[in-house]
Amino acid sequence: MDGILNRSDISKAKRIVIKIGTTSLTYDNGHVNLNRIGHLTRVICDLMNRGKEVVLVTSGAIGIGVDKLKLPGRPSTLSGKQAVAAVGQLMLMNIYERFFSEFSQTVAQVLLTKNVTDGEESRQNAINTFNELLSMGVVPIVNENDTVAVDEIKYGDNDYLSFIVAQLTKADLLVILSDIDGYYDKNPQEYDDAILLHTITDLSEKIEKNAGGSGTALGTGGMLTKVHASRLAAASGIWAVIANGEKPEIVYDILDGKEIGTVFVPEKK
Ligand code: GLU
Repeated sequence: MDGILNRSDISKAKRIVIKIGTTSLTYDNGHVNLNRIGHLTRVICDLMNRGKEVVLVTSGAIGIGVDKLKLPGRPSTLSGKQAVAAVGQLMLMNIYERFFSEFSQTVAQVLLTKNVTDGEESRQNAINTFNELLSMGVVPIVNENDTVAVDEIKYGDNDYLSFIVAQLTKADLLVILSDIDGYYDKNPQEYDDAILLHTITDLSEKIEKNAGGSGTALGTGGMLTKVHASRLAAASGIWAVIANGEKPEIVYDILDGKEIGTVFVPEKK
């Protein structure tokens, strides 16, 4: 099909990276949304049962740490954020471990920093570890190692990290679950007539122009980081989809090739 792949090809994806952000993992009051995490983990276990391999990229360390420590909001200092992330990451993994163990699914924690994935040898080590984990049927749960990452050497946001992970693992599909249905031609919060873009085939930088830049109180990414990560993934041959993670079962619809969310069609595979 002249290099343009068919949306139904997504169903063939074997290795899938799913990214979920802090806003999807917490309620507006800052507490953990256990119901959402329960649904997400169940979907992932079911995908594993179908014979897929799944890597989960999760945010939430800082958000959950803020809640656990009963702080009024994210600390403003770097060391404050690093300390809160150390508390929150443990709790986040504890929650995942509990839910995944309900289905006897073994999980692993993988904390990455940009200097690890930028360095040739350490990058290869990370790739080897992912491959080992996946071959053992383990679900790697990835986050940035916020406790040691400093501003100069940060990925910046977990959307970008999810692209890096999709690249390292040579994933077939990257699903970025968000609190919005996908990428619109203009900001749907400002314009009633905003149209959801279902399929993106132009992977040039200019498609980022309508994405804005804002994040939320507890997360860091906005639509811009999602579009950027998806565009880069598709340019490296990986299907990428931005979809609403309110109901994590949406991943089934994506795999069924339904016209849902925004799909970035890979250039080559
Ligand atoms: N790594 C951060 C956390 O776990 C999230 C970064 C992001 O939201 O993009 O809190």
